[in-house]
Order: sequence, then structure tokens, then C-alpha cells
Amino acid sequence: MQQAYKNEPFTDFSKKENRDDFQTALNEVEQQLGKHYDIIIRGERIRTKKTGTSINPSNIEEVIGTVSQADKSLAEQAIHTAVETFETWKKVKPSARARYLYKASAILRRRKHEFSAWLVKESGKSWAEADADTAEAIDFMEYYARQIEKLTSRHPLTRLTGEDNELYYVPLGVGIVIPPWNFPLAIMAGMTTAAIVSGNTVVLKPASTTPVIAAKFMEILDDAGLPEGVVNYIPGSGSEIGDVLVEHPLTRFISFTGSREVGLRINELAAKHQPGQKWMKRVVAEMGGKDSIVVDHDADLELAAQSIVASAFGFSGQKCSACSRAIVHEEVYDEVLARVVALTKEITVGDIREYGLYTGPVVDQQAYDKILSYIEIGKTEGKLMIGGEKGSDKGYFIQPTVFADVDPQARLMQEEIFGPVVAFAKAKDFDHALEIANNTEYGLTGAVISRNREHLEKAREEFHVGNLYFNRKCTGALVGVHPFGGFNMSGTDSKAGGPDYLQLFTQAKLVSELL
Ligand code: NAP
Ligand code: MG
Repeated sequence: MQQAYKNEPFTDFSKKENRDDFQTALNEVEQQLGKHYDIIIRGERIRTKKTGTSINPSNIEEVIGTVSQADKSLAEQAIHTAVETFETWKKVKPSARARYLYKASAILRRRKHEFSAWLVKESGKSWAEADADTAEAIDFMEYYARQIEKLTSRHPLTRLTGEDNELYYVPLGVGIVIPPWNFPLAIMAGMTTAAIVSGNTVVLKPASTTPVIAAKFMEILDDAGLPEGVVNYIPGSGSEIGDVLVEHPLTRFISFTGSREVGLRINELAAKHQPGQKWMKRVVAEMGGKDSIVVDHDADLELAAQSIVASAFGFSGQKCSACSRAIVHEEVYDEVLARVVALTKEITVGDIREYGLYTGPVVDQQAYDKILSYIEIGKTEGKLMIGGEKGSDKGYFIQPTVFADVDPQARLMQEEIFGPVVAFAKAKDFDHALEIANNTEYGLTGAVISRNREHLEKAREEFHVGNLYFNRKCTGALVGVHPFGGFNMSGTDSKAGGPDYLQLFTQAKLVSELL
């Protein structure tokens, strides 16, 4: 039987001692800003002439760190190292591989506030959002460690007299891990450790906006005693080295989380057979979202408004699960909209190192420009109810923004904005609301706020998303509790943090012996 799995509790920041501890961690991290981080291949630190700079999005003059940048030849070197290391790592027993993850998660737990403080500084997360990101990284490691023990234990097969049959889940080979910046610790660590605990070796290319947190995570793997070369850290520009990594004939699989555009490119390049390549590459790609909250006419309207605001504006809407579409029954539309606007008015935005602010900046100049351009589009497609403005120039601040009366086919209702912008559309009835909810090419998360059992049953069947939530927000999936992944253009529905995830990084081998 699988052991009980308990999620890491979130830190209670209403307690002064916890706030003091976190403040101390922030002060300590601030003493360490501006350092340089090298590429790491087989444990060897490699410094390159070309460097990338990670900055604090709350204060764009503050450098978090500089990072060496891998070019094509270093990318190639990392793959060859991973190929060699695979020969020894694949022979390490699964239970022993799991113990590296238990150890790493224990170290991260001890250094929890420190890592959360790095997240505040490098990605602009609030204390609570950063704390949840770190907690999720701890959970992923413990969960995948338990899962590999389960997956590699003996599987009951139908007995056949005179034969002994056994099914083994064996590793694939070298994996390229390409995570996004928006859960720069949790998703990066989850993708990386799922691959290695399954017996694969990894070339990790962190997101260019958040490479320092990944470098800090490499320290943890090192402290946990992970053999050199099992994870190779090669920061560098995705557009420059991404193709080399994906197309390489020795690459066995690519584990990607990020935008639809990059995910589709990876999928296409990986499908092409290269000279000397002995397998079909596997692609695990989790991509964008355009997520809706549907509000029924008999719903708890306060719950509806709170759910919309929390899902739309937590971490400035920069979650693949964020609510960017509120689809509200016409009978309660005005009331829900008014309450959302009132709640949005209370949201505080600023330098997120301060405790108590609800949300901080968006992550970088590119995101800032993109979101502001969507706000201009929104002004032509709907009625601006609140927000629509920049904040202080010190960082990439954008006010939480609500647009009303947006056509379900409008760009604001169809394209992923990935910022603090939510569009309201009016539905004639519940069926119409579901029809609007399903009208995008994405299918990641969604929520229904309703008291009507029949409607909930209908949504259960017809609301076509990977993660569907009733009478709650559509963000905040917990490892092991809400396995996460989306339909359609949201990706391959890999269900990270779920019982089937590690099968994606293994292949099943049947051995049959005539007795
Ligand atoms: P992104 O621009 O696609 O980048 C993701 C990663 O891909 C980064 O490491 C990036 O490197 C790399 N990359 C860029 N071009 C590449 C190429 N040609 N080949 C290989 N790799 C390449 O996405 P993002 O802006 O970081 O993240 C936001 C997106 O992620 C949103 O669409 C969001 O919905 C999605 N997301 C999805 C999930 C999910 O579970 N479905 C979870 C979180 C986020 P550089 O940084 O160097 O460009
Ligand atoms: Mg990007």
C-alpha cells in the first residue's frame, strides 16, 4: 500500500515569530545578492564570458545575480555527460534514488524561508505565494520518492501456470528539463526530480528570468550527495540553445512547462528523427491556459467574487491556472461584477519584500509590455471597470484590471495574457455559460460556483478542462491531492503530482520465464 502522503503546511504569517523569521531570511538573502553562478556539468563549475543578469522585478536596478550562459557546445557537452552518467545512475536501486529526494526535501525544509526569500526577490512573489512555491517543491520531492517505490515494486499480473512473469518500469535515458519562471522552484524541482528518481539523467535549462533560484537548488542536490552529472545545470537562452537540446540524437525525452508557442515548437522538432537516433523521443509538455470561473444564478455570490479575485490576481495573474475569464449568469452579473470591483479596489500592489502587500510586479519587461498592450486591446473590446494603469516605475507594476461586457470571442477572452487582467462575459443561462467556458483552444483549469446539483453534474461531464473545481478558486493545486495538467492546447495532461506522472519518465519491460 502507498504510504499516507501529507502536504507541507503553509507558514502562518499571522504569527509574529514567523514574520520575524521570514524577515531575517530576506535580510540574509539581500546580503548575498549580485553573486555569480556558473554552469555545472558533471559537478564542474564552468564560467563563460557571456553572462545573463537576473534582476528583481520589484526594483529593476537591483541585481539578484549574474549567471554564465551555455552556448551550443556546452549544451552538447552537458548531453554527453548525462549520457555517460546514465550508465551508472540507472543501476542505482529505486529505493536508493528515492532517498536522495527524501534528503533533498529535508534540507529544503530546513532552508524553507531562505528559498522563499529568494523567490520574493527573483520572481516577485508575495511572502505567501513564495512560501507555497517552496512547500510545493518539498511536496513534489517527497511524493515522487514515494511514487517510485510504488512503481518499482512488484506488479500483480495474471498468473499463468508454469511461467513467472514480471513487469518492470525502467528509465528512459537523458532528459532535457525546461521549466518556466512562474514556479521557478516548485515546477523546476518537480520536473527535475521526477526524471532522476525514475533513473534518468538530466540536462536542466532553467528559465532565463529565474536562473538563480535553480542554481540554489543545485546546492541542495549537491548537499544531498547526488552523484555528479545526474543533473547538469546549463542556464542559457532558450531561443539560442533550445533547439540543440531538443534535436540532439542522444536526447531521449523532453520535459517542458511553458508557453504554447514554445511547447509546440519542441513537440515538432522532437518528432523529427535525427541521424543516429535510436528512439522516438518522448515529449511531456505542459503549456498555457485561458481559465474560466462560471458563476450560476443561485450561487453564493460572495464566494464567487472572492474566488474570481483570488484566482485572477494572486501572483499578479501569472499562473497557468489563473482565472482570466469570469462567465456570469445574467441574473447575477451586475452584482458579482460590482463585488469583484470592490474587492479589487482593496488589493495592494508594491515592492513585494514588504509583508502584507497582496501582490507585486509582473516578472520582466517583456511581460510588462505584453500585458499593457492587452489592456489597450481590452479598452476597445470591453468596459474598463478598474485598474488599467501602471504602478510605480521602480518595478514592473501593473494595477489589477477588470473589464466588463467582453464578447466571448474577443481576444481578451481567447488569448493568454498572463497578467492581472480578468474579463467578464454575460451568459444567458448555465448551458450558455458552459458553452462559453469551452470555447477556447485551451483546457487547463476551470471553476463553477453553483448550488445546483444538476448543473454541477453537467459541468463535471462537459466542462472540458484538466483541473475542474467546484465552489472554490481555480488556482492552488496541491501535490498528490489535485494532480495537475491540462487538455487541448494546455498540453499533454501529464498530471504532475499525480500517481501516473512517473510512468512518463519510464518504460515498462515485461520479463517472462518458463518454469
Ligand atoms: P516560455 O517562454 O515558453 O519559456 C519556458 C521555458 O522554455 C524557458 O526555460 C525558456 O527559456 C524555454 N524556451 C524558450 N524558447 C525555447 C526554445 N525555442 N526551445 C526550448 N526552450 C525554449 O514560458 P514562460 O514565459 O517561462 O512561462 C509562462 C508560460 O508557462 C505560460 O504560458 C503558462 O501558462 C505556462 N505554464 C504552464 C504550466 C502548466 O502546468 N500547464 C505551469 C506553469 C506555467 P528562456 O527563459 O531562456 O526563454
Ligand atoms: Mg517567456
